[in-house]
Amino acid sequence: MIVRSCHSYTIKMSETLPFDKISLLHLAFNGLTDKELQEMAAASQLCTYPPEHILCREGAYEDVFYVIAEGSAVICKNVSEQDGERVLRIAGKGDLVGEMALIQNVPRSATVRTLTDCTVLEMDKKDFETLLSRSPSMAINIIRTTLDRIRENDQIAIQDLQNTNKVLHHLDRNKLEFIQVAAHELRTPLTVLKGYVNVLNSFSELKTNPAITEVMSGIIKGADRMHEVVNTMLDVTRIDSETLKLRATPVPLKRLVVDTVHELIKASLERNIELSLEQDSDTPNINADPTLIQKAMYHLIVNAIKYTPDGGRVTLHSRPITMDKNIPGVEVSVTDTGIGLDAEHHELIFEKFYQVGDVTIHSSGKTSYKGGGPGLGLAIVRGVARAHGGKTWVESTGHDEVNFPGSTFYLQLPIDPPASPT
Ligand code: ADP
Repeated sequence: MIVRSCHSYTIKMSETLPFDKISLLHLAFNGLTDKELQEMAAASQLCTYPPEHILCREGAYEDVFYVIAEGSAVICKNVSEQDGERVLRIAGKGDLVGEMALIQNVPRSATVRTLTDCTVLEMDKKDFETLLSRSPSMAINIIRTTLDRIRENDQIAIQDLQNTNKVLHHLDRNKLEFIQVAAHELRTPLTVLKGYVNVLNSFSELKTNPAITEVMSGIIKGADRMHEVVNTMLDVTRIDSETLKLRATPVPLKRLVVDTVHELIKASLERNIELSLEQDSDTPNINADPTLIQKAMYHLIVNAIKYTPDGGRVTLHSRPITMDKNIPGVEVSVTDTGIGLDAEHHELIFEKFYQVGDVTIHSSGKTSYKGGGPGLGLAIVRGVARAHGGKTWVESTGHDEVNFPGSTFYLQLPIDPPASPT
């Protein structure tokens, strides 16, 4: 056994290796002619590496590919800093490794590390390309092997995604159960608290003391706000589309929008925000659950007020539309002149508890500027849309607290909800 340097590695190479290069290449590239196999054998060399030797390094531009003759190597990919490496497969006798990066001229997509003493037949990129250009059958063979490999990797990735999806689904159900238990546990003492405060509030002797009146009003306001948050938590659990049973009745949508706006006029006046309505006269009525639609509208308008600075404008627009598959529907959009939203958050804000920015910055008022909240409003909007077979999304050019580009939230609903929700 001698030791020599090859491709900048220190390797062990046997002068009397018992391998028959031709039969090994035949195993790796089934279908090549004898002449092609001989040419390939002449252009390649046998090397033996110790265990834990890196044959290919993920991310590096390297010039060699290998056919494993004896021993085994592990092919793994760095998933993330947190999750570390993911083993893609174990390569053994007759397996090609490192050929994909040579064909694509890109850095290695995975690391290949020997597990045992590993004898490989290795070939340089240049020699490999010369052979490929001379032999169409070899090129086709390599393409076929590479496609098989890509398909195999796809299968692994799909399986991974399916498993992760199952785990996420399970976690989401746990989250929902937690919200439900927490909301129920909070509601009972809160009702007791509100009852006692109301009793206290009725004592006339307390009303003559301005300091106590102010404290009482603070307690009532706080308890009301807490009640609202607890109700929002319960709404989220109810609106989870898997359990929701829609009670659809004819809903005069334009009227419902006007009523919701009226509910929030006081809050918008306090912030000097103009609420304007632009409803197309042919906006149709829909069959839907009016309570749910009203809740969705409410959260969209509250958010528009909350994320718009004082003196801004919120515009509601409703119009008839034709949805996918020619289904007639309506669209309500809420446009504000607020802080806007970066594209990376456009999907995620509809997830339960997702909030943009620093979640520790909260103010007590539900419509105070950038007041924050529990992060459940848009999850309710999406739940309502899905339960009715509709959809919701946001459009905004980005977050900017100097120029205030604003955002538009859309809610599209079919005139008749489908028999089973999407
Ligand atoms: P929250 O209770 O935090 O308002 P939501 O689910 O209603 O929860 O909204 C989630 C996040 O989406 C908010 O924290 C906010 O960052 C962002 N958001 C919602 N509406 C708007 C809007 N009109 N303009 C800018 N950002 C918005």
